[in-house]
Amino acid sequence: MVETLRQKGIGDEAVLKAMEEVPRHWFLDSALDAFAYEDRALKISCEQTISHPSTVAMQSQLLCLQPGMKVLEIGTGSGYQAAILCKMGAKVFSVERQKGLFDKTRALLAELGFRVRCFLGDGYQGLQEVNYGPYDRIIVTCGAREIPKALMQQLKTGGIMVIPLGEEEQEMLRITKNGPAEEEWKVETFGAYSFVPMLDGRQMR
Ligand code: SAH
Repeated sequence: MVETLRQKGIGDEAVLKAMEEVPRHWFLDSALDAFAYEDRALKISCEQTISHPSTVAMQSQLLCLQPGMKVLEIGTGSGYQAAILCKMGAKVFSVERQKGLFDKTRALLAELGFRVRCFLGDGYQGLQEVNYGPYDRIIVTCGAREIPKALMQQLKTGGIMVIPLGEEEQEMLRITKNGPAEEEWKVETFGAYSFVPMLDGRQMR
C-alpha cells in the first residue's frame, strides 16, 4: 500500500511510516479483509465509508503536522484517520455525529491503545461545549457545503485546516489562518474528491 501511495505523490515520510504501522483492516469488518490494502473507499457501519488510503494520506500530508500538535477531526467514522494522526504524535480530538459509530469507534480506539478523545456532536459547531481549543490543525473528513465559521474560530492563528468543500463532489482545500479576518486566510486547492456529506445535528442511533 505504501508503494502505491508513493506513486500517487505522497512523499511525507512521517505519513507513510504511520500508514505502514497502523493496519487498516483493524478498522473494517473482517468480511472486507481482502480489500483492506487496496486504494479504495469501503463501507463501515451507519451507511458511512472509510476514505481511500490515498485520501487519508493526502489529508494527513496537507496538515503539515508536528508531533505534539492539537488536532481536531470532524467525522471520526471508522477511527482510521484519527489513529494515523495519533501515530504521528498528534493529540487528537475527534467528533462524530452518529451515536452508533461514536460508541463503536470510541471503544475500538481505546482497545487498540490509541489515545484519541472522541466526542458525539455536530462538527459544524466544532467542539464548543468542551473547551480544549484552539487547535493547531483541523481536519474535516466529510464533504462540507461551506467553510464552518465555528471551526475557523477554534483554529489557532497560524493554524491549518484541511477540508473537502462542495456538495456533489468536493475540492480539497488547505486554509492557513494568518489572522482572524477572512481576508487573512490563505486558501490553496488540491483537486477533486468524493466524500460522504457533512450533515447537521446529531443522529442518536
Ligand atoms: N475519518 C473517517 C471518515 C469517515 S466518513 C475514517 O477514517 O473512517 C465521514 C464521517 O463524518 C461519517 O462517519 C459521518 O457520520 C461523519 N459526519 C458527517 N457530518 C458530520 C458532522 N456534522 N459532525 C460530525 N461528524 C459528521
